[in-house]
Amino acid sequence: MSARAAVTRPSAAELRGAALAYASRGVPVLPLRGKLPRIPAAHQPGDSLYQQCRGQCGQQGHGVHDATCDPDQLRAWWQRWPEANIGLRCGVGFDVIDVDGQTGRHSLERLLAEHGGVPIGGPRVRTGSGGWHLYVAPSGLPDQIGVLPSVDYRAADRYVVAPPSRHPTTGRRYQWIPGRGLDTPLGELPAALRERLTPQPADRQPEPAPTRPAEPGHPYGRAVLEAETARIAGARGPGQGRGGERNQVLWEAARNLYNLVAGDVLDEAEVAGELERAARACGLLRDEPRQTQRTLASARQVGMAHPRGVPERSARGASGHDHPHQDASHHPPFRPRRQPDHPPER
Ligand SMILES: [Zn+2]
Repeated sequence: MSARAAVTRPSAAELRGAALAYASRGVPVLPLRGKLPRIPAAHQPGDSLYQQCRGQCGQQGHGVHDATCDPDQLRAWWQRWPEANIGLRCGVGFDVIDVDGQTGRHSLERLLAEHGGVPIGGPRVRTGSGGWHLYVAPSGLPDQIGVLPSVDYRAADRYVVAPPSRHPTTGRRYQWIPGRGLDTPLGELPAALRERLTPQPADRQPEPAPTRPAEPGHPYGRAVLEAETARIAGARGPGQGRGGERNQVLWEAARNLYNLVAGDVLDEAEVAGELERAARACGLLRDEPRQTQRTLASARQVGMAHPRGVPERSARGASGHDHPHQDASHHPPFRPRRQPDHPPER
């Protein structure tokens, strides 16, 4: 699109058509005024449901939770607010790396250069303020403002402004980079960024339990292996209770086990085999083979970077404390705000 077109106000038909087109691809959409939700908030400060309700009250006005793929609802919204910008919900079909201007670009490039320089790829938007939105496969990781200087990560419960919306300050349009529209296969979240986004136990546990190396086959390692693989095998998929959680459980359990592989407590080949068996048992390997392999590769990479041995208490086998606590991993339970199962590869 030309520089002139970039400042031309999109027509109502153009905005409505784009909103419907995103929704028809399974991307939930919400109307925006500038960058903020257009629908007035259902709950104000002082209301007991303020910042608690996510739409269970039946009204609209819950920010990203209003986003929908229902074409009738979208037509009604854009009939009422023909000039509304378009917000796309993240964490469902994609996550977005939000790069703010040249500062953000440089911090992302620096990170990539330090870690092998693998390009991220995927659909890409030039924002109305001169930044970029990089669309990557949903990671299940929590969103994070400032994951790098001038770089945010937008995931579950966040949204991004999408083309052809106009930036409220500059008046410039958000535009898909030519050849990098939403048809482009999603980008890969770089491992170095994934690691930064992963809640680290050290953040909440300043003094980790002292550990010492042990030979593979130590009873502590065996107990953790059994507990973690049982957790994966029992994880629920979509339609099996409240939300799918299999991918998240798999990632977390695999990361915990590879921590112990790196600490020489468990044997790598055995862990890989047991993880695959558990992923098959919960149906994940059958339903989402490619995403599952990516999850395992990522968990291995992060896990191997943080070796962990046997906690002192368990290392003293003679004292009869070979059995780990319920949370054998010593990682606090990882609880992102939502635990969406990744949609199948499209
Ligand atoms: Zn409500």
